[in-house]
Amino acid sequence: MTLRALPGKKIHIEPFRIEILKMREPQTRKAVPNMRKTLIAANWKMYKTPDEAVAFTKAFIPLIAGHKHAEIVLCPSPTMLPTVVDAVRNNPIHVGAQTMHWLDQGAYTGETSPLMLKAIGVTHVLIGHSERRQYFNETDESVNLKLKSAFAHGLIPIVCVGEQLAEREANQTAEVLERQTSIALEGIDPATAQSLVIAYEPVWAIGTGRTATPEIAADAHKIIRAQIAKSLSPALAASTRILYGGSVKAENTASLCCLEDIDGALVGGASLDAASFGQIVINSAA
Ligand code: PEP
Repeated sequence: MTLRALPGKKIHIEPFRIEILKMREPQTRKAVPNMRKTLIAANWKMYKTPDEAVAFTKAFIPLIAGHKHAEIVLCPSPTMLPTVVDAVRNNPIHVGAQTMHWLDQGAYTGETSPLMLKAIGVTHVLIGHSERRQYFNETDESVNLKLKSAFAHGLIPIVCVGEQLAEREANQTAEVLERQTSIALEGIDPATAQSLVIAYEPVWAIGTGRTATPEIAADAHKIIRAQIAKSLSPALAASTRILYGGSVKAENTASLCCLEDIDGALVGGASLDAASFGQIVINSAA
């Protein structure tokens, strides 16, 4: 096997020595920069007024200037989407919705359609967040419909999956993640799914201050990636970004984002403050 040490220089390592190196190195650490660009998304849930959102962007933009390693996405509530799209214009920051309907239009009071999101410059959309599943009857089946619609409309979907505490304690984590991921991906043509992003968000870690250990997160990400390989293709499994979400803060970002299978973070509480979210973006370069 040949490894690149410095640009243009190559080191030859015997296969048996690679086994020894693997034993010495924690296996999950990122070895080489991969094709999956880090994505750091802020889920502002039902917080902030438009004025507060603009104040956030004014403070945040200078903090992340020059940090090109990550795709940054702000997901405000629907009333603020146009304000935030305007506030980040000409900056390397994208705007995502927290949910959407799967249809283009219709008699669905209170809903927002993918056409409406596209028309105002929204590029990303969260699908199946656990709070939508818990309080607004989002199901694996509606996640699937929304995902198909996001692909059809060229919106980058961030599909949230994750087990409840009781499911983890009953050793059902793998089963839950496989079910949520496989139903989300049912009937999806791999050729249309290049932009797929999945966020692993253990429900017991959301807003609780309890973060999954890097080992727990890495294991879950492996399960999800294996399911993507089965449902779509091994090539897509290798290129799909899988984020971790659940009490991410500046202090734990580096230990999570440096792992091989973790391609970024979906951040709730700690994304509401510009300094804290800016530090998360910076620390995700680890
Ligand atoms: C979330 O809402 O997606 C989330 C991960 O929240 P928190 O970071 O507050 O746990």
